[in-house]
Amino acid sequence: MSNKNDSIREKILDLKKQKRAVVLAHNYQIPEIQDIADFLGDSLELAKKSMNLEENMIVFCGVRFMAETAKILSPQKEVLLPMPDAGCPLADMINPDQLAKLKKDNPDAMVVSYVNTSAQIKALSDVCCTSANAIKVVSNVASKRIIFTPDKNLGWWVQKNVPQKKLIIWQGYCLVHERFTITELEEARKLHPDAEVIVHPECRSEILEVADFVASTSGMLKRASESKAKKFIIGTELGMIYRLQKENPGKIFYSLGSAKVCANMKKITLHNLLGSLENHRYKIELDQDTIAKARKSLEEMVKYV
Ligand code: 13P
Ligand code: SF4
Repeated sequence: MSNKNDSIREKILDLKKQKRAVVLAHNYQIPEIQDIADFLGDSLELAKKSMNLEENMIVFCGVRFMAETAKILSPQKEVLLPMPDAGCPLADMINPDQLAKLKKDNPDAMVVSYVNTSAQIKALSDVCCTSANAIKVVSNVASKRIIFTPDKNLGWWVQKNVPQKKLIIWQGYCLVHERFTITELEEARKLHPDAEVIVHPECRSEILEVADFVASTSGMLKRASESKAKKFIIGTELGMIYRLQKENPGKIFYSLGSAKVCANMKKITLHNLLGSLENHRYKIELDQDTIAKARKSLEEMVKYV
């Protein structure tokens, strides 16, 4: 197995050079992909990185909305997603008709959409945000009333931290993060009383309320390296624990309760990454109008961070 992987890895490295391609990967990718990526990060870091690349081809190891974001920000580049069905069920929880109706019912509200949305939802939004900058973005938008889509838990967290704004929150959620329970948190704390609890803002609100620290995936890395704690209980997708452990070898990371896996993030393998580079697949294609409108809301976000 490892011999076979070594030869796939070599081919990937050769093809990357030959085709002037860059591999961007999200923190939830399998270890083999994390290890071969040129750049690894959270949604915000990956979006920003995709804007400043010399390479003509971006192979995005993540889920569709992330690859679409790279395409929107670099429309002249070829952006590939190695598995066409690597989607994000949270992003699919709101569609353009639903958002159009919400806007019609709340004409005085501006729309802030989490980057975990389709390009069409971004095109209907005033500004995007990620888990790393949602509080900052919402604090700074011009209107007092804000339609916030699509994640109810992130929305709850932002509302708690920005009480001067009134959020109208869409009730979507991440199927993976919803599975962390308060009982798991209590049991994990009993088991590791000296550990710091760090969770992602897509977790349920009762978890966000009692955690020691709430952060995006890269925010977790920063916190883990800066904290005096030696042990951590992590409330996010399993792939994150691999990176935390690798970059903090003197510290110990436990999953909050049972390991939670995002099946979509795990669809990308060395094998289909190689296929993507060899056959230029699967291309992200968006129409010009959607790109132009969605780009505005992403550029608006980048102004705030
Ligand atoms: P981050 O931007 O914090 O990496 O989160 C992305 C995501 O999909 C979380 O489930
Ligand atoms: Fe989407 Fe949740 Fe997977 Fe993140 S972990 S990509 S929000 S389904």
